[in-house]
Amino acid sequence: MTSSSEGEILQVGQVIRERWKIVSLSGENYCRIISFQKAKIGGGGFGEIYEATDVQNHHERVAIKVESSKATKQVLKMEVAVLRRLQGKKHACKFYGCGRNDKFNYLVMSLQGKNLADLRREAPKQCFNLSTAVRVGLQILNGIREIHSIGFLHRDVKPSNFAMGRTSQTMRNVYMLDFGLARQYLNAKGEIRSPRSAAGFRGTVRYAAVTAHKNKEMGRQDDLWSLFYMLTEFLQGQLPWRKIKDKDEVGKMKEEADLNALLDDCPNELHLFAAHLKTLGYADTPDYNYLESLLNKIVKDNDISWEEPYDWELG
Ligand code: ADP
Repeated sequence: MTSSSEGEILQVGQVIRERWKIVSLSGENYCRIISFQKAKIGGGGFGEIYEATDVQNHHERVAIKVESSKATKQVLKMEVAVLRRLQGKKHACKFYGCGRNDKFNYLVMSLQGKNLADLRREAPKQCFNLSTAVRVGLQILNGIREIHSIGFLHRDVKPSNFAMGRTSQTMRNVYMLDFGLARQYLNAKGEIRSPRSAAGFRGTVRYAAVTAHKNKEMGRQDDLWSLFYMLTEFLQGQLPWRKIKDKDEVGKMKEEADLNALLDDCPNELHLFAAHLKTLGYADTPDYNYLESLLNKIVKDNDISWEEPYDWELG
């Protein structure tokens, strides 16, 4: 997505640390801003994502996330910390560098392709077929398992925070983005931090777990609830609360949701997925293997092959 030229921190042609050069859309005189967002619920920061090339390394294309030094809430430091710890994991972007000056903080990482929100919106009927939804779902589940394994919760699991790779080697792999709302749930000793009695709402209303709506401390199962809502939306093309802005009203709808209606025509394993999440509280470790086995059962029962094209790969 290209955005307006307002509020841009970086200019086309600008080179950061003699290495990363901001590129323009071909023939046009403005920056290739992948995303520009002024503020977000709970985050309140300024995030801009640019495309650049690495002039010291064969002009490899990279993504640069920039945050103004004046941003009220500085989240890039957290993003850098999480991305560094995730290095070597399958669903993490490569970390290339970071830094700051008096105007902005920046993070340079590998450039990925389209995010899953855009891919779903571009799909006919705004939904994915079962094969695409379940294979993407399995990858997201493993991405969530990876971030939990380093002691962090993501807390903003949603389709626009997952992108497909863009090179021939990476285009069928899902990458997890945006650790601006991440929170450590383990302390230095590897123990679960004690939950705060009240926590401000974090995340995105459409995909947030009921725990977040209630301003309670989020746990590992809450990232998985967001995955559950994503899977439901991928398959049904929409969630019943899609048009409702009021956070409390959406929270109430989720709490009272009739899973039979929500999951109408979906495989029974998704009921079992939600049933497992319902058993979990803040300190509990989700049974990732069980959740994975449920999604794998859908793959098997429907003769889905990992080699078959994703929806967006079909001519
Ligand atoms: P913000 O914190 O401002 O929401 P995100 O990190 O969520 O920023 O990124 C916003 C969008 O920018 C994503 O939905 C994705 O489309 C795009 N994006 C972010 N990081 C990358 C990347 N490494 N490669 C390609 N696109 C990216």
